Amino acid sequence: MSKEADINKVVRQHLEMEQFFTGFTVKTEDGILPTRGGTEDREIRFTTHSSQDCTDKKVKELEKIAEEVRQCRQCGLGSSRTNAVPGEGNPNARIMFVGEAPGADEDAQGRPFVGRAGQLLDKVIEACGLKRSDVFIANILKCRPPENRDPRPEEIISCLPYLQRQIEIIDPEIIVALGAHAARTLLNTNKAIGQIRGQFHEYCAGLGRPPIKVMVTYHTAYLLRNYSPENRRRVWEDMKKVLAELGLPVP
Ligand code: URA
Repeated sequence: MSKEADINKVVRQHLEMEQFFTGFTVKTEDGILPTRGGTEDREIRFTTHSSQDCTDKKVKELEKIAEEVRQCRQCGLGSSRTNAVPGEGNPNARIMFVGEAPGADEDAQGRPFVGRAGQLLDKVIEACGLKRSDVFIANILKCRPPENRDPRPEEIISCLPYLQRQIEIIDPEIIVALGAHAARTLLNTNKAIGQIRGQFHEYCAGLGRPPIKVMVTYHTAYLLRNYSPENRRRVWEDMKKVLAELGLPVP
């Protein structure tokens, strides 16, 4: 394929993705949507009901974890990173997205999903009728592996307790595992993503706590690298299942 044809293909794919994941938003400023179909007094909530005291407590606990992450030197990534990326979002989120590990942009800014894969994730979130500030976004690893290599088992083992504590505090109704690394780690399985994608699984939240539903879908970075209308549709189908499970309107 000539260089020009190649660029045209990339631009066309980008536009298709853009159109597919935008234009559905029916969100109001206060995060509450009137239900479709009429029952005017019903509200749809994107976050859990929580008293201000409870929210303040969660914010403090999450900030404590973030500070520990910023100080962490438990594995080698602590010395190669620029910034640790603890995760961010709504402490009362009903949906938590979990990715693999920060990339170059995230490492530079100390924030999750701010590069190209993050911009696509923002579009997916918006297509769901949500805002980024409605959800919580974190990663399995809190520091960037050099050259974006795969996370190593010992890095996952030392980093995972931070994520487990974040999940415990936020207590989301659904975790969306983005890609194979997040899915395999959260579900403690070696299964291929093709086998587990598109279905609800259970994350064991600890003794005495009910399991949390996990939807496995493709990582947005994978979607960018392996763009096809079929893959894009798969991610959207997965997200529609999440919305339906939460009783949120499916755009
Ligand atoms: N990919 C991830 O898995 N996490 C990020 O934060 C960014 C890209």
